[in-house]
Parts: sequence; structure tokens; C-alpha cells
Amino acid sequence: MSEALAVVTPVAAASRAVLRRIEPGNMAVCSHCGQPVKFAAKLHKMQVIANVYVDGRWNRVEHFHDECYGEALSPYGDPTEQAARATRVSS
Ligand SMILES: [Zn+2]
Repeated sequence: MSEALAVVTPVAAASRAVLRRIEPGNMAVCSHCGQPVKFAAKLHKMQVIANVYVDGRWNRVEHFHDECYGEALSPYGDPTEQAARATRVSS
């Protein structure tokens, strides 16, 4: 195996997405459908927040409705769930 084929990809410089609960007062607009990503008290809706890197540098944050991110075919990879390691609640 040639070393020339090994591409070094800095992990920190790659776009990535996380899945988060939508908080009250959230003002984000979905990058896919253009609608506000609104908090709904009883629905426990989730949003996808993506940190977008361009040419290895952080460029912007994009928000998506959970379902819109799927419709957009996960442009920034599969969203990872945050806060899973900080608090572990067994129900
Ligand atoms: Zn949307």
C-alpha cells in the first residue's frame, strides 16, 4: 500500500452535525426548507445543528429540522447526539 494514497484528514476541520433538542426562544431558520426551527412545548422536536467548515476552516453554523436534515440527505454526515456522555439518565 502506497503512502501517497493515505490522505490525512484533520478531524477538527471537518464539517459535523449534532442532534439537539429545540430550546424555547430558538430563532434559527432551517437551511433546507427556510422555515423557523420553532420550539413546540409538547412535541419535543429535535433540530440538527451543523458546524460547516470550508477549506479546513470553520465557516458557519447551519440549522435544520430533524426531518429536513434527513431529506437533505445528511449533507454534513450523520448527526451525533450531544450531552449523551455528560448525563446518563436511565428511565
Ligand atoms: Zn426544515
